[in-house]
Amino acid sequence: MKKIIKNHLYRALGIYILALMYLCSINSLALAGRRDNFPGSYSHSLTSDPWIALTFDDGPHRWYTSRILEVLENNKAKATFFLVGKLCIKYPELVKEIFAQGHCIGNHTFNHWNMTRLSEDRALFEWLACSEAIENAIGEETRFCRPPGGKLNESVIRSADRAGMMVITWTINSLDCSGKSSDQLKGIILSRLEPGAIILLHDGFDTTLQALPDLIRVIRKKGYKLVTLDEMFYKK
Ligand SMILES: [Zn+2]
Repeated sequence: MKKIIKNHLYRALGIYILALMYLCSINSLALAGRRDNFPGSYSHSLTSDPWIALTFDDGPHRWYTSRILEVLENNKAKATFFLVGKLCIKYPELVKEIFAQGHCIGNHTFNHWNMTRLSEDRALFEWLACSEAIENAIGEETRFCRPPGGKLNESVIRSADRAGMMVITWTINSLDCSGKSSDQLKGIILSRLEPGAIILLHDGFDTTLQALPDLIRVIRKKGYKLVTLDEMFYKK
């Protein structure tokens, strides 16, 4: 009898160790990132490589998305687009185009509502409905998400976790959606560059579009490489 109990204990211990190893391996899939002020989200990658990620929120936009893609392609630069689900349904061809050009696509919720005002289950629906719209367009899942305005609470983090995504905010807010001129937003961004920085821009403003070629040129001149979030966090 004692032997049976002992065997059970060893078995349980073995399962516990295997589970621990599995959890550690999941963690090591993503490179270490600097956690936000809010636990469970990342504003920065801890990579020592001189990498910078440009991110564009709120698309796809019927006019601006193609222009942003054109500037990126002309400069052979890759970026990440956090897309709104209901707009992906409206403009699936733009979602396909972003993906076809090798950019990373992230989830920016279905309706672009303040997620902190929703129940956890309703927030989960927002993530899943947006993921479905993206997946229907490109046939691939997205693993990054960003809540509108970067507004977070524990329930939003839990809902993103349940949807299987990593919450990404930003290191540098360009303030392009606050009426800044293209020179002002260049100044804001270029004075704060550091390895692993994630830059917040928007798909929907003339000033962003005007600033983009110079931003790409100067960021590279300062020795940085522009990468997608997939490259930054998963070295993919
Ligand atoms: Zn947004």
